Amino acid sequence: MSDEGQQHDHWLCVDPPLGFGGVKWDGLDTLRAADYGPALELVRRVGFRYVAYGQVQQLTEAAARSIRNTAAELGLAPTWVHSVVLGSEAPEAYARYRAAQPVCARIAAALGAGVLVDHTLAGGTAPDLQRDVDRLGASADEAARFGLTLGVENVSSADPGYTRQVVDALNRPDVGCVLDTGHAALAGVAPQDAARILGRRIVATHLQDTFGETDDHLPPGLGHLDWNAILSVLDEVGYRGPLVLEIGGAKPRRSVAELRDIGLEKALVLGHRYLTYIVRQLYESKGLEGRAVHALAARQA
Ligand SMILES: [Zn+2]
Repeated sequence: MSDEGQQHDHWLCVDPPLGFGGVKWDGLDTLRAADYGPALELVRRVGFRYVAYGQVQQLTEAAARSIRNTAAELGLAPTWVHSVVLGSEAPEAYARYRAAQPVCARIAAALGAGVLVDHTLAGGTAPDLQRDVDRLGASADEAARFGLTLGVENVSSADPGYTRQVVDALNRPDVGCVLDTGHAALAGVAPQDAARILGRRIVATHLQDTFGETDDHLPPGLGHLDWNAILSVLDEVGYRGPLVLEIGGAKPRRSVAELRDIGLEKALVLGHRYLTYIVRQLYESKGLEGRAVHALAARQA
């Protein structure tokens, strides 16, 4: 059975629209813009159809446009870009964040992304609603100047309910939530429960597996998370965007030493194949084969 060549309005299909979010690119972010080419070719070769980026503030707009073109030639559509994140409340950290955030927004737009990902305070500091709402509101204004939606990601130091609270307080159509499955688990909330808490606010996904001890960013299927449950809830709450794996080949602090450097190619293949398998199981269990479909890719562009 194959539905190759068909287009979908839903990731729940035989050939799900999976993406790779290259937050670290195994160090590629420190290389020249031209070095993105081989990485993007690998992403396409494994079978991904979407791509996302982090650490973009060092790129020029021209380099970003060139990366966007390379990705487009490979058939990879851009999804989200990770902004710089605020790691502490120190005034100098805030000043650095404030200066870098509009740069990230400009580069994200040049890369063709639709969502700029940000965090509530990323460190261990206690949640402070007014502080996060004020800062992220200013960031949403900057993102909006470039036509971007601001996605507020749940972090490992706070309950996903807090992320929802911040986004609800901002209450604007160009601000939503980003579900990070590993962060939810580290915050003590099963990611399927986090998906339900964030619900229809979810505008982007960071799908990554973990053993629940450190922020492993492992391919789905290699950790303890229940991917059948996670994807079921994502479907139920109405998420219709691409499924983006935020994973890497190397991660020096992974809980399981043998998985600290499994290599990007292997990580991509394992994550892609396992999620495809899970999505197909769900698709078939819901009796959805043969239903009318439309172009997800066109809507995302
Ligand atoms: Zn994330």
